[in-house]
Amino acid sequence: HPGERLAKAIARAGLGSRRDAEVWIGEGRVKVNGKVVESAALNVVDSDRIEVDGRALPARERTRLWLYHKPRGYVTTNRDPEGRETVFSVLPAGLPRVMTVGRLDINTEGLLLLTNDGGLARVLELPETGWLRRYRVRAFGRVTQEALASLKDGVTIDGFSYGPIEAELERQQNDNVWLQIGLREGKNREVKRLAEHLGLAVNRLIRISFGPFQLGALAEGEAEEVRTRTLMDQL
Ligand code: URA
Repeated sequence: HPGERLAKAIARAGLGSRRDAEVWIGEGRVKVNGKVVESAALNVVDSDRIEVDGRALPARERTRLWLYHKPRGYVTTNRDPEGRETVFSVLPAGLPRVMTVGRLDINTEGLLLLTNDGGLARVLELPETGWLRRYRVRAFGRVTQEALASLKDGVTIDGFSYGPIEAELERQQNDNVWLQIGLREGKNREVKRLAEHLGLAVNRLIRISFGPFQLGALAEGEAEEVRTRTLMDQL
């Protein structure tokens, strides 16, 4: 192909967003083949040597994407200020350096996408994709089908507005309910807040799908590469 925008190549390497890269270019911090770049409109090809602050970008690798079954008890950040263990310390052996697509809370389990392409990670986690994220939720309390249906047109809680929510009762099990909740946005602690709003206390939260990707029967702690060409080509 005829190359790609320099800022895009930098973002893909995971150094920052395209916008960040444009700022660095403007600040004269980016070199291509040894020369400081003057214009963010420059196109680069795989054989070009790109440096940011004097450090070479890693050679371009083919974009890869994995489904990962996150266990509970791990944070999704690279480093945790409180010193809690991160998912990166328990990923299966044999993965290259990867980034997560968005985050799951420490006690949330289930589907987390991993990729070696920082640009792809940023695109997939944009709220604008409007992708459905489905969760199975176990919560302490009782709830009616009607109360769940009331979320259908969205709801405002403590000044935060949440978009249309698909919520279904799976079953009542002693003092707990099992629900399925589908959201098209990924707001901070959204499922927990919605459940609290209904008088429920979440004690298990499992993400079972993210857009076209399904957790399926993937075992906890395991990763599986997405190899479906048609799917990868759509991204
Ligand atoms: N909603 C939550 O409350 N937590 C998550 O990890 C994801 C969605």
